[in-house]
This record gives sequence, C-alpha cells and structure tokens, in this order.
Amino acid sequence: MQKICANPWCASAFEIAQDDLAFYDKISPVFNRKKESVPPPAFCLDCRQQRRLAMRNERTLYPRVCDHCKKRIIAIYPADSPFTVFCPACWWGDNWDPLSFGRAYDFSRPFFDQFRDLWYAVPKISILALTDNINSDYAHDGYRLQNCYLIFDGEQAQDSYYGEVYALLKDCCDFYSLKQCELCYECIHCQECFHLLYSRFCSNCSDSAFLLDCSSCRNCIGCVNLHQKEYHIFNEPVSKEEFALRKAAFALHTHAGVEALRAQAEALFLRYPRKATRTVMSEEVTGDNLISCKNMHDSYDCMDMRDCRHCTNCMMGGSDAQDVDAWGDKMNLVYNCAYVGAGVERLICCYYQSFGVSNLCYSIYCLQGANDCFGCVGLKKMRHCILNTQYTEEEYGRLTPKIIEQMRKEGTWGEFFPPTLSAFSYNETVAQDYYPLTKEEVKKRGWRWREMREEMPSVTKVVSGDRLPETIDAVPDDVLQWAIRCEVSGKLFKIQPSELGLYRKLHVPLPRRHFEVRHAARRALRNPRKLWKRACAKCGKSMETTYAPERPEIVYCESCYLKEVY
Ligand SMILES: [Zn+2]
Ligand SMILES: [Zn+2]
Ligand SMILES: [Zn+2]
Repeated sequence: MQKICANPWCASAFEIAQDDLAFYDKISPVFNRKKESVPPPAFCLDCRQQRRLAMRNERTLYPRVCDHCKKRIIAIYPADSPFTVFCPACWWGDNWDPLSFGRAYDFSRPFFDQFRDLWYAVPKISILALTDNINSDYAHDGYRLQNCYLIFDGEQAQDSYYGEVYALLKDCCDFYSLKQCELCYECIHCQECFHLLYSRFCSNCSDSAFLLDCSSCRNCIGCVNLHQKEYHIFNEPVSKEEFALRKAAFALHTHAGVEALRAQAEALFLRYPRKATRTVMSEEVTGDNLISCKNMHDSYDCMDMRDCRHCTNCMMGGSDAQDVDAWGDKMNLVYNCAYVGAGVERLICCYYQSFGVSNLCYSIYCLQGANDCFGCVGLKKMRHCILNTQYTEEEYGRLTPKIIEQMRKEGTWGEFFPPTLSAFSYNETVAQDYYPLTKEEVKKRGWRWREMREEMPSVTKVVSGDRLPETIDAVPDDVLQWAIRCEVSGKLFKIQPSELGLYRKLHVPLPRRHFEVRHAARRALRNPRKLWKRACAKCGKSMETTYAPERPEIVYCESCYLKEVY
C-alpha cells in the first residue's frame, strides 16, 4: 500500500508492506473482548522516528534544585522550565502520589491536549537514573554507574566519560556504542576490546590503534579488515621489534602524531573494501549494524532482535517490534515507542516504560509492574488507569474504546506524541542529531527552540584549544583550573580530575574540541541509517548498502567481502 506522508513539509511517498499490516493487526489491543485495530501510520518512516526522538533530551544538562528536597542537582530540565522536577531519590520515593494529578476524561477536548496537561503537571525525574549510581551526577539514563561523567543511555560503567550507548565499561572515554570494553578511547561500535584507541567496528581487539573492521587482533596499528592478526602496521606484518620501533616513531602521545596517523590510516582504509552492511551472525535482515538478529528489516544498530522492522539502537534484545528506538531486554510486541525495555510487553505509542510493564498505550514513565493503563504518566505498579485516574476493570474496558474512537476521528490513534508535547525544545533533543533543522524551520512547524546560553565557568584562565601542550606529560595539574576554548565551536569546556587521570593512564593528548563537537565527529564516522542500491565493486551484483553511490569507499557484497577478508 502506497501512502503520502501527512506532514505537509514532507509529503513523501512511503510503502506499507503486507507484513506491516499483519503486525498492526497483531499489536491491536483488546478491550472488553473487542479488538481496537491500529491503522497504518499517517507519517513516513522518518517523520515517525523524528517524533519519537523529539521526546528525548539526551545530552543537554542543567544545574537546578530538586523541587522536593531542594538539593542542588543536575537535570535534563533547565531551572526555567515549567515542570516540577524531582531528584531520582525523591522521584522514586513514596512521598508523592502520581494519582493525585489524575483527571477525568473530557470528550469535548482532543486526547493529546488532555494528555499534555497531565504530562506537564506530573513531577519529572531530573535525570533517568535509579538510586544506585555513585559519583555520577552528570550521567543521564545510566544504571549502576561509578565515577562517570557525561555518558548517556547505557548501564554498568566505571570511570568512563563522554559517550553514549554502552554496557559494561571500565576506563573508557569519547565513545559511541561500546559493549564490554576497557581502556578504550575514541572508539565507535566496538565490543569486547581492551586498550584500543581511535578505532571503529572492532571486536575482541587489544593494545591497538586506528583499526577499522578488525576482529581478534592485538598489537596492530592502522589496519583494516584483519582477523586474528598480531604485529601488523598498515595491514603488513612486522616483527615485534620493528613494531615497537615504528610505534614509537608514530608518537601517538603527541597531538601532531595522532592527527598524522589518523590521516594516513583513513587514506589507507579507502583502498580496502568495505562490506555493504555490517551485519554479523544474522539471517534475513536488511539495515546495518545488526548483530545476532533474525527476520529484522530496515533496522539499524540492534542486537539479539527477532521479527522486527524499523528499529534502531535496540541493543538488549527483543522480538515482534516495529518502530522502536532504543533499548530492549525482554521486549515483546511493541509498536511506535522510544526508550522502552527491561520486561515490556504490548506497548503502543509510549515513551520510556520499563521494569515489567504491559498493555500500556500513550504513557510515559510508567514503571515497575504498571499494567493496562492508557494516557498515564509516572505510575508504578498501577492498573486500569486513564489520565492517572483509577477505574475498575469494567469501567476501563468501557471507557478506553470510546477514547480510541475519538482519537480515530482526530486521526491520532496509532500516531506517536507530536513534538508540541515534548518537554524539550527541538534543538535539545536527539531529533536534532538525526533530523537537524534550523531555528526558522523549527518555529515554522510550531515547535520550540531554545537559545542556549554559555555559562562562563569559574576558572583561572582560558586557553585556546590549539595552544594546548602537545603531550599529556606537559600538561600541569593546573589544567583543571582552566577553561579550554574549542578550536571548532569556540565553546568553553573544562577537564575533570578523573578524566585527566585517564588521559595520563592512556598516554593520549588532551582533547582540543568541545564534547558536542567530538560527539558530532563520531556520528559523522557512522553511515547514515538509510539504504541505497549500489553495484558490488567486485562482482557487479546489485546490493543494498548504507554507503551512498557517490561515496569514495570500495564497497563489496557480503560474499565478495568474506572471500577477500577471510
Ligand atoms: Zn514524512
Ligand atoms: Zn530531591
Ligand atoms: Zn560481490
């Protein structure tokens, strides 16, 4: 079925497949023994994802006070936001009652208007965290963290800084998507690596730098597509002695040495083939960066997922899901949701639901065994609630179909919360990472934009990034009192004491760019989440790839790549 995206600024054609229709039927909830059909979406794939990502501020943190205990805290909501914001200890505590914000449903008003009133009224958790993080106040959506700073969306990390999407890290800095890694710096999409620097798409590699698409390698520098190799430089074997001599000559402890080797390595990488998509141990999949997935289509950066379409960043496993961004971990039958996981089942159009919840529609932050709720916010262990008001099972079964009927007429049933309901301005959200818009475009669509003010940190001096010492050895402890002016954005940033300790341990030079600029650079090193038709550079067969046809990389189909590399 062909449709035209209902957003007037988009209006692109998109396809609803037969499988999609079967899924919408399967996910359709049952109330009073009657199935309430979920219709095909009105918006194209990108517009759907943009809505979901516009709900989430991932990296913009603000100092403020907890509106309950009055402690000074770090939050994703600025002090001038209209919301009541509680620190994690107060939010998770029993000293407030989300049902006290409940309201009766009013059939004379649109659903989203009523939901917005509730959503804005219920206290927000300052940052997504349980209460078990230690010395990690500047980390949002992280669990079981110790001494971490500015890391986002992950769990179980120690002494790690500046990165997102992670699990089981120790001593890692400046990363995107790492799992089970230690002493890794400037790495992207790596698993089970130890002491690996400036590398991407590697697994089980150690004591190496500037690797791309390598696995099980040790003591390698500037290599691509290698498997189970040791002492290689620029894909050539060298003796252990020569390796040591040449490694010293690269002077990777200096800023100039790192940049020279980066340029050399990237030039070399362009002479070797890339695989059309990075799928590993997967069957019947389309998309990219899929590990141990089966029957998974148009999906990106997922692991251990089955029978899903249009999913991204679901790294913890799940099944039967469509249009889901992030998380997983015993996720089943989920549609058009973002950041849901840890035992979730039968969710429709929800944001952040977790810990054993099921049968929820249009709800946010309903956790710990909340079941059968519609349009609710911040409920724990509750059942049969609508707009945070408790009903009997019978009343719930009678009222919800009527609300759905009203939403059907409004054209909102099955569509995610619009960006006008987001608690954040568009440019604070992850949507701006993937669907960047100018201030004018955002305003034209009726969404919010926040003017970011730069706070002048209290420092003894401001040093321009390009004037920093060449080596970490030449950096005095006094650097902790400086602000560094980013050589690209001009934004000021400071070095944290434990971060400095890690640079010294890794013997790497200080960063000269603000963490947002570093984050954008890492993002640019990943392919877009989009498939193009391109001919295999070896056999000429037509294939789908995330390398756009005009890109300079040599791209092979899977079988040609595997023949070449293994
Ligand atoms: Zn669209
Ligand atoms: Zn508090
Ligand atoms: Zn081929």
